[in-house]
Amino acid sequence: MRRGNYNKHDYYSYAPAGSYALSMNIQRDLLTVNPFSRPGKTLSGVKALVIHWVANPGSTAKQNRDYFENLKKQSLNDASARFASAHFVAGISGEAVQCIPTEEMAYHVGAKLYTPKALSRLGYYPNTCTIGIELCHPAADGKFTEETIQAAAELCALLCVQFSLDAVRDIWTHHGITGKNCPKWFVDHPEEFDTFKQDVVITMNRLKG
Ligand SMILES: [Zn+2]
Repeated sequence: MRRGNYNKHDYYSYAPAGSYALSMNIQRDLLTVNPFSRPGKTLSGVKALVIHWVANPGSTAKQNRDYFENLKKQSLNDASARFASAHFVAGISGEAVQCIPTEEMAYHVGAKLYTPKALSRLGYYPNTCTIGIELCHPAADGKFTEETIQAAAELCALLCVQFSLDAVRDIWTHHGITGKNCPKWFVDHPEEFDTFKQDVVITMNRLKG
C-alpha cells in the first residue's frame, strides 16, 4: 500500500479510501504566485480535467514546471508576454509534478474561441473550472510512453474521485475545448484517448475498492 506517499511528498490532502496501490509519485513543487503562471485566483469549482502535451520533445516534468515558473520574470508592460501553466505535469518516466494547488486557477486552456460543447458545459472561461494536466513525450510525434499514460490515468482517477467527475464525460483534450492541436497524439489517435479514459475508469473502480 502506497498511500503514505501522498503525505511524504505533501500531495494535497486527499487520499483515496481503497487500498489499491498506485505506482505514481507526485512531487509538489508549487510555482511562485505571479501574474503570468499562478495568478492565485480560486477556482469556481472543478467541472473537468484537461489533457495537454508539452510540445517540447524529451523535456522532463521538472523542466516544464520550471518553464512555467520562469514566466514570472516577464514584464506586464511587455505586449508579447506569455501566460501559461498547468496544475500537473506527468513526465516520460511516470514522474509527476504538481505546480498549482487544485483550488487555484491555472492558465492552460484560455482562447478567443471555444467549441460549442465546451461553452455549454464549461462556460465562457473554462480556466475557472478546470484542472490542467500536461503530458511529456519523447519525440515530435507526441506519442506518450506507457509510464506517462499510467501516471496520468492514476492522477485523473484520483481527481475524478475527489471532485465527483465522470471520467468519460469530464476528461477533455485541449483540442476538445478550443480546437488547438493539443495533445497531438490524441488528436491524431482519438481511439487512444478513449482507451485512456477507460483506463481512468478502471483505476477509479480500484480506488473505490
Ligand atoms: Zn494544450
